[in-house]
Amino acid sequence: MLIQKGLDWNIPFSILDPDPDAPCSAMMGFTAGKLTDFDAVMKFGEGCDIITVEIENVSIRALTQLESQGKKVFPQPRVLDIIQDKRTQKKFFKDNGFPTADFILTANQEDVMRQSDFLPAVNKLGREGYDGRGVQILRSKADLSRAFDAPGLLEKLVDIDKEISVIVARNEQGEVKAFPPVEMVFHPEANLVDYLFSPAQISAQLHERAVSMASEVIVTLKMVGILAVEMFVTRSGGILVNELAPRPHNSGHQTIEGNVTSQYEQHLRAILNLPLGDTAINQPSAMVNLLGEEGHTGEARYLGLETILAVPGVYVHLYGKKLTKPYRKMGHVTIVDADMESLRKKANFVKSTLKVIAWESHS
Ligand code: ADP
Repeated sequence: MLIQKGLDWNIPFSILDPDPDAPCSAMMGFTAGKLTDFDAVMKFGEGCDIITVEIENVSIRALTQLESQGKKVFPQPRVLDIIQDKRTQKKFFKDNGFPTADFILTANQEDVMRQSDFLPAVNKLGREGYDGRGVQILRSKADLSRAFDAPGLLEKLVDIDKEISVIVARNEQGEVKAFPPVEMVFHPEANLVDYLFSPAQISAQLHERAVSMASEVIVTLKMVGILAVEMFVTRSGGILVNELAPRPHNSGHQTIEGNVTSQYEQHLRAILNLPLGDTAINQPSAMVNLLGEEGHTGEARYLGLETILAVPGVYVHLYGKKLTKPYRKMGHVTIVDADMESLRKKANFVKSTLKVIAWESHS
């Protein structure tokens, strides 16, 4: 989606992806290689002028070296270094006075097991956990035996009213612009965004606080690019920062149709040091993640496409992934509608109608 936007501006791209069959593998300038492999990233980066990433799990050592050779690397490797590990992220929030759930850092399972007084809590892996992997709730002593046996943290279980996200951008000149907050609804089992609504249904005061907090975070980091700031609105009406993603994010997919500027265009504007675009909402929108159906593994087959395409305001984005498996993100659908109630109805209709199954399941 970033490349789709970049093509409008004649930007030539080179792509590094570990999967030789990645959806972008058929495009120009494709290299298959591991993003965490120092040599692969160095070799690839040497041929680029500006380097950006769409995943945090990348060789920071290689990106730092490329930066010291004069390449522009956005987000900057030192920012990725803070964000790559949830422990350093939490320390960053605490050290800079950003409200976040109380936490303790833990080295291993034994360490977590000593913290029964801190329960109920959420146990998170420091590194490499995403989309719900590496996050689990520990409610009672009996759950402690499930604790992760790797460096991580224990975070107080927050009484969440809503999960919201603000995508904020900053260019090299220091101009900062945030998109209006969106509201995320999580899938109860898969632990990833099931659907979202833009704008979030929160008070004007919370809206403003969320936007100013996200802006302060990107300014404090002096980051260039776009940053998704995920937050919790608590039942007592406060806002806590949960975590950061320094890249185009699932909570900004709907900006393609729903906002004047998309998150992808905004990211390009930021890293090219262009004026940032207008983030205003055109119309309220909903975004439904298209997840692989449970019990289906194999070559992807899409059911219900024609039915949902007959609904006005429905935009389908399929990611071109060959294989589906349970809960794999295969695409997303954005729905725009001036009326929030009709938007909700259409989002539910899309969710219950569009399915990704396998032609022949061998799960
Ligand atoms: P990921 O990196 O997988 O997105 P998160 O830290 O965002 O991990 O956690 C995933 C989900 O778990 C959150 O969106 C939220 O629903 C729940 N969660 C995380 N931390 C807490 C917490 N402290 N209290 C209650 N729920 C939490």
